Amino acid sequence: MRVLSGIQPTGPFHWGNYFGAIRQYIELQHTATESYYFIANLHALNTVRDKELLQQYTLNGATDLLALGLDPEKAVLFVQSDVPEVSELCWLLMTGTPMGLLERCVSYKDKIAKGLKADAGLFAYPVLQAADILAYDADIVPVGEDQLQHIEVCRDIAGSFNHHFGETFVMPKGKVLDQSAKVPGLDGEKMSKSYNNTLAVFDEEKKQRKLIMRIQTDSRPMEDPKDPEGDVLMDLYKLVASDEQVAEMSETYRKGGFGYGEVKKALANAAQEYWAEVRERREEFAAKPELVREILAAGAAKARAKASATLKRAQETGAVVPPI
Ligand code: ATP
Ligand code: MG
Repeated sequence: MRVLSGIQPTGPFHWGNYFGAIRQYIELQHTATESYYFIANLHALNTVRDKELLQQYTLNGATDLLALGLDPEKAVLFVQSDVPEVSELCWLLMTGTPMGLLERCVSYKDKIAKGLKADAGLFAYPVLQAADILAYDADIVPVGEDQLQHIEVCRDIAGSFNHHFGETFVMPKGKVLDQSAKVPGLDGEKMSKSYNNTLAVFDEEKKQRKLIMRIQTDSRPMEDPKDPEGDVLMDLYKLVASDEQVAEMSETYRKGGFGYGEVKKALANAAQEYWAEVRERREEFAAKPELVREILAAGAAKARAKASATLKRAQETGAVVPPI
């Protein structure tokens, strides 16, 4: 089983990224025969147009993944733009991608609705993503729920290429974790780097506590019993608290007679405990940016070897660029 996934350096990684995607990377690296994880800086160009900021987010992103437990001995960790073959493969795929397929993508529509500029890059994003997945012959792509549609698009694109030119690409499957496929942000919508509603994994404790205290809650009387299901605080609490703590808090909700301020405090305390160890580990990696760069360079070499073989295969089977 070959596993691949990418994450955009569009800002500091947040709880949604960790619980939806990164946690799967860490688990899967033990069972996969090969795994590839990359920092999607080409994708990020759609939102981050500041060169230095993007460089910083890219290095930080790799540092975060290492601190969270990605093991460069087991998984190939690299930066997307270090493998230019993928962009060429993207073009081959783009030429056979119907506009309608991309027009239906919810992630694009959501971003436009939130006021992001409608650049061609943002629109064609799923094709580059398809090239990323197909270049490494990935069987499994661990992601959050929002990416499942893009993986379907990738399968459509791969299927039509295979059908038209002959078997070339491996058909990938998306993999989501049921409990945390869509982590809510501070405003109750999907937590997203570009929506300004995140709790960053590596925010310092004080900042995280402050953000948690600001989460909007309903204004029903304190005495009323409340439903613990579908409540943002409770959804976040479930991610960082123990089973006993969650059971206890659910009971408190059902009984009523408590203030949301108490829940927020409990959430902030549980978060502090949950992240303490990786925060320390992150400081160790952050003190050695040269080590992180070396890991990325070694990863890029391995990734490039794999992707160029696939590109060649696509060119040959596809006869798209015939030697004359
Ligand atoms: P952006 O707003 O720039 O799109 P993002 O926060 O959505 O950033 P991505 O880099 O697009 O993060 O996604 C990285 C991985 O994290 C993907 O697998 C995505 O599905 C997952 N992910 C992102 N947000 C969430 C969330 N709120 N819950 C669960 N998984 C998530
Ligand atoms: Mg996203």
